[in-house]
Amino acid sequence: MPELISVQNLQTQFLSDGKLVRAVDNISFSLQEKETVAIVGESGSGKSVTSLSIMRLVPNPPGKIVGGQVNFHGEDLLALSEAKMRQIRGNKISMIFQEPMTSLNPVHRIGEQIAETIMLHQKLDRAAAWEKTVALLRTIGIPSPEKRALDYPHQLSGGMRQRVMIAMALSCHPDLLIADEPTTALDVTIQAQILDLMRKMREEFGMAIMLITHDLGVVAEMAHRVLVMYAGRIVEEAPVQEIFAEPLHPYTVGLLRSIPRLSGNKDRLYVIDGSVPDLSRLPSGCPFHPRCPDAGPRCRRERPELLTLGERRRAACWLRSGEGVE
Ligand code: SF4
Ligand code: MG
Repeated sequence: MPELISVQNLQTQFLSDGKLVRAVDNISFSLQEKETVAIVGESGSGKSVTSLSIMRLVPNPPGKIVGGQVNFHGEDLLALSEAKMRQIRGNKISMIFQEPMTSLNPVHRIGEQIAETIMLHQKLDRAAAWEKTVALLRTIGIPSPEKRALDYPHQLSGGMRQRVMIAMALSCHPDLLIADEPTTALDVTIQAQILDLMRKMREEFGMAIMLITHDLGVVAEMAHRVLVMYAGRIVEEAPVQEIFAEPLHPYTVGLLRSIPRLSGNKDRLYVIDGSVPDLSRLPSGCPFHPRCPDAGPRCRRERPELLTLGERRRAACWLRSGEGVE
């Protein structure tokens, strides 16, 4: 399938208490049309900053994109004027977040908010946009959509609000949907319904999805391909079946072991020792070495590069480089 978006050597930094933080540290990856790629990792690994960088929504200051390219339909998004970028945001690339309450306007009826977006991007009059809005609410499984369109955000449950956010994000038929922890704030039953809805919408609208999550259960259900991030870098990339069957990076192994469903151990949840490092003071060598059960002397000295291993796999680990950890 043709390539939709390609991120090259993206670098985004923050200044925090006078210290330089490389939140996204030279990462490259791409998405094909209609492909769902999951970006996984603990919080603080750089997942959200990656998506904000692509959308050019990094708060500046304290953040700044300091290098790289984001190629999309033959243009580098990072080089576009803000006016041009606004035409792409919410139109060709849409985004949904974990907490829909923060992105919905509390004082406007949900139907009006969706219709506004449709009018803005599709140049329809109010009546036509309203008709489209009701149809869209019906598609996403909102009962009595004509009536619910008149509701205010606080009148809806969390799950319904997330449905509305998805409807808004899809109202312009984006080529790419960036979904940042879309189900994290929801309980398990509602979570399953939202994932179902996203799959259905993916089939109907044919968009690619960049799915940001720390939940590998969600990845297993949604993604075609997986990128694992640690300390601002990609440490592993693989098609979804392969990463579950044979993870190549010790960090991925740890993440997989911490899914209760897969390990079959429901009483004791495995947790990777230690915590995500302070990005302004990264450990020497491989930044994962203080937490890695396989670390050796080389890991403390030298940082492994992300190597291509086989057709669609990459990993950044001395164990996989053929050089070993000694
Ligand atoms: Fe572990 Fe060394 Fe591989 Fe880093 S390079 S993940 S410390 S084995
Ligand atoms: Mg995040």
